[in-house]
Amino acid sequence: MKVVAYSIKPFEKESLIRANQKKHDITLISNALSKETAVFAEGKDAVVIFSNDDASAEVIDKLAGFGVKYIATRTTGTDHIDKEAADRHGIKLANVPSYSPHAIAEHAVALTLALNRRLIKACDHGRNFDFRNDDLIGFNLYGKTVGIVGMGHIGLTTATIFKGFGCKVLGYDANLGIGHDHVPLVSLEELLSQSDIISLHVPLTEQTRGMINKSAIKQMKDGVMIINTARGALINTTDMLNALDSGKVGYLGLDVYEFEKGLFFQNHQNEKNKDELLKRLIDNPNVLITPHQAYLTNEALEELSAQTIKNLDLWQEEKRSYDTSEKNHVEKTKTQATISKDNTNILP
Ligand code: NAD
Repeated sequence: MKVVAYSIKPFEKESLIRANQKKHDITLISNALSKETAVFAEGKDAVVIFSNDDASAEVIDKLAGFGVKYIATRTTGTDHIDKEAADRHGIKLANVPSYSPHAIAEHAVALTLALNRRLIKACDHGRNFDFRNDDLIGFNLYGKTVGIVGMGHIGLTTATIFKGFGCKVLGYDANLGIGHDHVPLVSLEELLSQSDIISLHVPLTEQTRGMINKSAIKQMKDGVMIINTARGALINTTDMLNALDSGKVGYLGLDVYEFEKGLFFQNHQNEKNKDELLKRLIDNPNVLITPHQAYLTNEALEELSAQTIKNLDLWQEEKRSYDTSEKNHVEKTKTQATISKDNTNILP
C-alpha cells in the first residue's frame, strides 16, 4: 500500500519503520496535513495522520480527489476527522482505540502531584539557590475524593492509580451501567459536587464539548483541582479562567488546550502575537500546562506504531481480496464484511 504519514516527529520514525518491516511504501513527512499539504497524498492509497492534522471536509475532499481511500489516525481520539466527509467519499477510517492507557493515566497523576506539591515552583526557586519552603504547602491525596469523568481505558487506569494513594474514587460514564473495581458510578452532578480532584477522560464529541463550563464549575467544591489529559475543548477556557481568578477552581492541570491546533507541537517562542487565553493560563501560578505529551512514553509509541501498521495491513488484505474477487466476479461485500468484523479498530 502506498502511504504518506503526516506530522511525523523524529522520535516516531524508528518505531514506525520497525513496525512496517518494509510491508508498505510509506513516506514519512514532518508537515501537518492541511489544504496546502494534501497534495503530498497524490497517488497514495492511504494517509496516516495525528491529532493536530486538519482532516476537515475541505481537506478530505482534496484527499479523495488525489485518490486516497484510507485514513489511519495515530490517536485514540477521532474528533479531528470529519467522518461525514470521509463517508461521502467512501474513505475508510481507523484509529488506535487503546495503545497505552497507563501512559496517559500516569501523566494525569503526575500533573496532580506536581500541582499539589508545587514541584515546578520549588524547582524554579532552587535554580536561583532559593531554598525557602514557605509557599510550598500541599495536601494529602490520602482520603481525598477523586472524580473520574469517562471510565474507559484511561479513566479506569487513572482510577486504579488514585485508589493506590488511598483516595475515594467516583466515576461517571454516559455509557456504562455499573462501576469497576470498587469505583462506584455516580451521576455527573454527584461527581462534580463531591470531588476534590476531577480528572477528564471522555472523548470530544458534540455532547462533551464545553462540558466543564460555568454551570458545571458552579456545582464543584471550592478550590477543586481539575485535570484534563483528554481534549482541550472539553473545558470552556474563558469560564475556567474566571473560576481560577475567583478561586473557585484552586488548581488546573492541562495536557490539552481548547485552541491548541496549530500551536502545540511547535516552537512559537519568537512570535510576537501570542494566544491571549493561553498566556493568561500560563501566567496563573495555580495552572500547569504540558504540551500534549501524556501519550509520550516509549511503550506507547511502540504500540501506536504497531497498531497503525496493523490497520494498514488489514486494509491491504481487504484490498487484495477485493481485487481478486473483482477478477473472479465474486460479490464485493463478502470480503469487506470479513475485514470490518475482524478489525475492531475500523471506525463505524
Ligand atoms: P475510551 O473510549 O476507552 O473511554 C472513553 C469513555 O468515555 C467511555 O467509557 C465512554 O463510554 C465515555 N463517554 C463517551 N461519551 C461520554 C459522555 N458524553 N459522557 C460521559 N462519558 C462518555 O477512551 P480512552 O482510551 O480512555 O481515551 C479517552 C480520551 O483520552 C480519548 O478520546 C482522547 O481524546 C484522550 N487521549 C489523550 C491523549 C493525550 O496524549 N493527551 C492520549 C490518548 C487519548
